[in-house]
Parts: sequence; C-alpha cells; structure tokens
Amino acid sequence: MQNPSVVLHGPHEAYVEDRPIPVLSEVNDVIVRVAYVGVCGSDVHFWNNGGHLSKVKDPLVMGHEAAGIVHAVGPNVTNIAPGDRVALEPGIPCRKCRDCKAGAYQICRKMVFAASPPYPGTLTKFFASSADCCYKIPDGMPLEQAVLMEPLAVAVHGVRLAGVHFGHKVIVFGAGTVGLFCAAVARDFGAALVLSVDILENKLAFAKEIIGTHIGRTATPDSALTPEENARLLVEAHGLEHGADIVIDASGAEASINTGIFLLRSGGTYVQVGMGRRSVQFPISEICDREIVVKGSFRYGAGDFETALGLVERGCINLKPFITNVFPFEQASDAWKATGRGEGIKNVIEAPRD
Ligand SMILES: [Zn+2]
Ligand SMILES: [Zn+2]
Repeated sequence: MQNPSVVLHGPHEAYVEDRPIPVLSEVNDVIVRVAYVGVCGSDVHFWNNGGHLSKVKDPLVMGHEAAGIVHAVGPNVTNIAPGDRVALEPGIPCRKCRDCKAGAYQICRKMVFAASPPYPGTLTKFFASSADCCYKIPDGMPLEQAVLMEPLAVAVHGVRLAGVHFGHKVIVFGAGTVGLFCAAVARDFGAALVLSVDILENKLAFAKEIIGTHIGRTATPDSALTPEENARLLVEAHGLEHGADIVIDASGAEASINTGIFLLRSGGTYVQVGMGRRSVQFPISEICDREIVVKGSFRYGAGDFETALGLVERGCINLKPFITNVFPFEQASDAWKATGRGEGIKNVIEAPRD
C-alpha cells in the first residue's frame, strides 16, 4: 500500500485501505508522515454512529489529533523543513471569510477539518496540511506525546475565553483529557483555587496528580441530589461563599452544567468547552439575575497551539502520564473501544512505520 489509511464505512465498520499519497497543490502545502494519532471522544462517537455518514455517503478516513515528521514542503514554506518533528493543527480555515478576517478562524464556516466529513482524517501514513498548521515540537518531546497538543490547545482556548487571572477561583467539570488540561492551564494562568469535578474516582485521582495539591482540589457530586444541592455542598466544602469566579464545563452533562451555574459568583464567567446533548435544561434566570457571562468555546484560535507548546516546554505540564496505551495501526478500533469504555486518559494509535 502506498498510503494505508483507517477508513470508516459505518457503525463498527473500519478497515485499513489504500489511499493516494496526497500531493503539494498549493505553495504553502506540507505533506506530513504521520507518526501517532490520539483518540478523542468524537472518534468514539463516529465509530459507534458511523460519523455523519448518513449525510455523507463516502467512507471517512478517521483521526484528527496527530503528530509526525515533515515529508515534503511547498516552495513558499519557510517555517518548517523535511525531517522536522511537528504537531498538527487539524483544521485549515478559508482565511478569506468575515470570521477569518476578524481573527476568529475557528468559527470559519469553510473550515477544512480532519475527519470532519467529507475531509479525510490523520489516521493515515501521509497527510496533507498547510505550513501554518504545523508546529515544530521541542527536541525532548516524544511524538506520541505531541498528539496531546491538540486537546491542550482546546483547553488553552477555553481558559483564555474564560479570562482566568491571578487569584481566580476556577471550577472545571469533567476530568477527561480536555477537562484535566483546562484545570492545569487555569493553574498555570494564576488561579488561586482549581476544583476538578467528576463522577469517576479514578479520573479524580489522576486530576490530583496533574493539578497538584497546592491549589488543586477534587470533588464528586452526588447524583441523587439536585444541582442546587450539590452546588451548596461544594460551596461549603471548598470555601466558595462568594461563588467561583470561573466555571468551565468540559463534560457536556446537564447536571454539571446546572451545578456550575449555581456555583458561580454574581458576574462570574461560565465557559462551555465540552459537547453533550444538543439541548439541555438550563437555569437561564440565574444568568439574568446575577449577570453571569456565558461563552461557548470551539476548538482553538490564533496562538493557542503556541501557548500549549510553551506550557509544556517550560515544564508546567508533564504529558507523560496522559498517554495510557499505544495501539498498532491495524487495531485502531480497539483504541476507540478502550476509550469508549473510559479506559485510561489518552489512547494513541501508531501510524504505519513503513
Ligand atoms: Zn479531539
Ligand atoms: Zn474563513
């Protein structure tokens, strides 16, 4: 095979198939020899539901969290050269629309995003990207850890939108990869308290390790209680009489969203990072009565990958413990299944070696 790729045909139907090797079609294009691809919740969703294949008939090359080695570059590329080790930003915006021009390319409606139908994903040997979407990684960073730059950039974007400043009390719901990174980034942005909330004890044990015990706390809400009651218990247990300055929801769970709103101080900021159901019950009167600011956070924007790399390079965040398992290319579906069962933090798939 010249370009083996893991292709999804429908729910629980994925095979290694050959695809043409991509070519440099623009002067700023880059071909990357993929080394590792991280598994994300959306991959599991695609695997279980066949992606959006109901809308798009064509089979889909999976994967969007990737790192690899630059294979070829177009004539105008100056920031990277063949042989460089890079983390990939998996979406290429149109650069021309109003949103792109206004500096919010993450909401570009013409975004070409890996494994977002109909665009092919990164679970392939050779992947075509653009030079400004490839970030050289530090010498000491193993390529399998570099796949974490994508979820870390998601966290940086959310924490930036939240406006976390020195001294803030920050609560993060959800202790999956993105939630953990949000908590760690909030700490590094100067939060005085970071409380990580999840229903799974093993995730919280990991959160303790990652955030540290100096400013980091963890909590498990009681699912038998209402969000208001859970909020009251958390306020008492963690000295939040005036409420939290910032709540970031990386869970998408209705109960968490509601509890988060009740935990905020008046005038506080709520940021939705995690995606759950399309609509949930939401205590909207709290938003008015207490002038709470609510923001949505989608992927990452200008500077977020650089900030993510900077945090790792300065030793603020240790990526090693995040990598749970590395699966062979041919066993990509085992990696999705393991992630679907909630096993570990980040499962990674190794791209074909030769
Ligand atoms: Zn992802
Ligand atoms: Zn655009």
